[in-house]
Amino acid sequence: MIFLDNAGTTKMFKECVETYSHFACEEFYNPSAVSRQSAFVHEKLEGVRKLILKKLGATEGTVIFTGGATESNNLAIKGAVRNGNFEYIFSNGEHPSVFNVAKNLELNGKKIIFCKLDKTGKIDLADLESKLNQNVRLISCMLVSNETGAINDIKQISALREKYSPKALLHVDAVQGFMKIPFSVENLKIDMLTFSAHKFHGPKGVGGLYVRKLSYIKNIVDGGGQEYGLRSGTENVAGIMAMATAIEKIDVKKNFEYVSKLKSLFNEKLTGIEGIDILDFHGSPYIEVLVFHGVKGETMLHALAEKGVIVGLGSACSAKKAGNRILQEIGINKDNIISSCRISFNAYMTEREIEEATNIIAEVYKDIKERVS
Ligand code: PMP
Repeated sequence: MIFLDNAGTTKMFKECVETYSHFACEEFYNPSAVSRQSAFVHEKLEGVRKLILKKLGATEGTVIFTGGATESNNLAIKGAVRNGNFEYIFSNGEHPSVFNVAKNLELNGKKIIFCKLDKTGKIDLADLESKLNQNVRLISCMLVSNETGAINDIKQISALREKYSPKALLHVDAVQGFMKIPFSVENLKIDMLTFSAHKFHGPKGVGGLYVRKLSYIKNIVDGGGQEYGLRSGTENVAGIMAMATAIEKIDVKKNFEYVSKLKSLFNEKLTGIEGIDILDFHGSPYIEVLVFHGVKGETMLHALAEKGVIVGLGSACSAKKAGNRILQEIGINKDNIISSCRISFNAYMTEREIEEATNIIAEVYKDIKERVS
């Protein structure tokens, strides 16, 4: 099986399973309890916080462990909303775990402003600039699009925020960027950042929210006051430790270069095949979109799966819903959207697998085309 849906999720590293097992069955203590054993586990979690801060290039702030990116995004946004006549800005390209939170806040009477994406899939900076003002209290935008791989110009967004909306916090959903593309929260002046372990070979249901200052947000669930009172509930120690194992194993720069090579090879092999178009947004090397003219993306997906190649159909979280909000926003025509599949790589695949996948894709497409015409 060749898995090309790594933006949806990734296979967990064996080493993470070992760590998980150790902290689930051996050192399984509650980090908030008072025994020496618990204190040890508590220290381990503090170590993971430090490790993540280092990887993020953060010189201040902390990490709140959560049950994944959906929860982190909810916490960052709902936690930052205040009473008063303030404005909150989101992009039209956001994942449903941001976009639907924004929509619900709007239904509840908050002033929510959405800004456009340009043709390259990035946030339209002129549109953003026109919407910024002194009343804005939050700008939430993703680093890398899970649909297209486009990378937003966070540095420029930060600069615009500083100029027009100095009281606004900048929250970045970096699920498709953390441990995949090099960046630093310090350079980009990010106040809050979301990440999720299962996108970089860690376990599902574990992630976190980086916050430069704890005072930026209020808790959204009440309970025992764990995680600085911002995320009550006993921490998923085994999951967090397994996530740390994945973080320690990954060399972001090396993987970035290798995946760039894989993507070039993949595109080279598919270039020139009649009826197949590559929508490469020249952002993250990990993600791109293929258009299979005359065939539904869903038909291709199932036919490829029969031959052992797994591709995606846009965001897995919203794949069952009709249409693709993001591709539509970028101006891709409806027929192309219906005929599209998302391809997403990981850094542990071989060039041989890539070549094999392209051969199967070409064959399967030719086969279906012949049958439908
Ligand atoms: N944001 C982005 C950009 C994503 O790609 C995803 C996963 N598809 C999420 C948030 C949600 O992540 P999780 O599965 O950890 O809740």
